[in-house]
Amino acid sequence: MKLRTLSAKNIEKKTVLLRVDYNVPLVGTGAKRRVADATRLEQSRETLEFLIKHHAKVLLMTHVGRPKDVYDRNLSCDVIAKHLSKLLKHPVVFCPHLEISQIATFVSEQADDAVILLENIRFFRGEKKNDPALAKEFAQLADLYVNEAFSTAHRSHMSIVGLPKYLTAYAGFGFAKEVDTLYRLLTKPKRPFVVIVGGAKISDKVSAVAHLAQIANVVLVGGGVANNFLAADGYDIANSYMQDCPVDMMKEHENFVHFASKLISKTKNERIIKDGYIPLPKILYPTDVLAAKNPQSKQSCLVELYGQNGSCKQQSELMYLDIGPKTIRLFQEIILSAGTVFWNGPMGVYEEPAFTTGTQEIARAIAKSSAQTIIGGGDTIGAITHFGLQNRYDYISAAGGAALEFLAGAMLPGIKPLLRKDST
Ligand code: ADP
Ligand code: MG
Repeated sequence: MKLRTLSAKNIEKKTVLLRVDYNVPLVGTGAKRRVADATRLEQSRETLEFLIKHHAKVLLMTHVGRPKDVYDRNLSCDVIAKHLSKLLKHPVVFCPHLEISQIATFVSEQADDAVILLENIRFFRGEKKNDPALAKEFAQLADLYVNEAFSTAHRSHMSIVGLPKYLTAYAGFGFAKEVDTLYRLLTKPKRPFVVIVGGAKISDKVSAVAHLAQIANVVLVGGGVANNFLAADGYDIANSYMQDCPVDMMKEHENFVHFASKLISKTKNERIIKDGYIPLPKILYPTDVLAAKNPQSKQSCLVELYGQNGSCKQQSELMYLDIGPKTIRLFQEIILSAGTVFWNGPMGVYEEPAFTTGTQEIARAIAKSSAQTIIGGGDTIGAITHFGLQNRYDYISAAGGAALEFLAGAMLPGIKPLLRKDST
């Protein structure tokens, strides 16, 4: 999968419409708003600095929040322009207009190498519907289009799939790196390839897990997601959390226990050989867990699903909230012998001190392993940042839904227009 990427030659003295994902958290209201986390602004830095260095005129375009096709003062991009300007140490002009003719005049009045941030693209009716008339109007503002918003590549919106119909389209450096990393994960991972899945939102992950399970050598399951696998295998999971199947997914998966059960039986003849002589199933879920009556409990007890050393009483009231020490040890050993590790989803309710250990130990093992390591998922990134390990992995994907759809084997609508002609 090869994407068209930027070269100095194709941008020199050009006006570039650059789609970014500056959907940053904003705190406060009205004039007192500020950007609470600038990670997403940082992600566009390489592409932006390249465009600035080569004297392109840049029109930045992003959505923020979920406005209803109309102006919403609290979701205006004005504060983002200010923040970005400080971050880049380069002036960023904010264009407040919502009429194309006014935007065009504003843009023409700026210097030939200005960086301009347009107003929230979701204030424009036609963005989410991918209105071709709106795409044509925006296309007239620029000479070419660059997409640096991989995290929105699964959406068929005007600024993602409409504009490339009217302008030559390129992938930004971050976009291309993300596609390259995830594509290599699917097509030529260094083996053994270990997939680790956890967290609570199994609905978002089923398709990616099903696809990755075919490619991986082993799948380690923890967190709330593991409860579905334990239930599918006939274990009593007491009062543990299990996500209900959304109505629109019912037909496909009935419920997620059924999904887990199908995955277990589909892979039942596949084995990984641990330490060269111990055959293990391909899908591994906890053999022991830490439990309590609720996640806020300061105390936990141990449930051994196979052994006799558990310490829990009144089992029917318990929630399974973290993986136990034996599971941690098994998962660590597998991780340390991996060639590639992909991890999405915490191993327990890591936000609560009594249930942090599983996630932290797995995060440490992945950081320590010599494998190619790729991490995804909002909460997973939150956890590794909390542990101070965020610089210890090869790649961190902040693309959420888009990355999961890509890993499920889908061709994302936002990638298609950026493919080189010779791409397979
Ligand atoms: P990510 O954002 O990394 O994809 P999710 O959003 O799927 O992860 O899940 C993160 C949430 O899962 C966290 O808030 C965590 O507390 C919760 N969680 C993890 N393990 C359990 C569990 N055993 N029971 C209930 N919730 C859990
Ligand atoms: Mg999450």
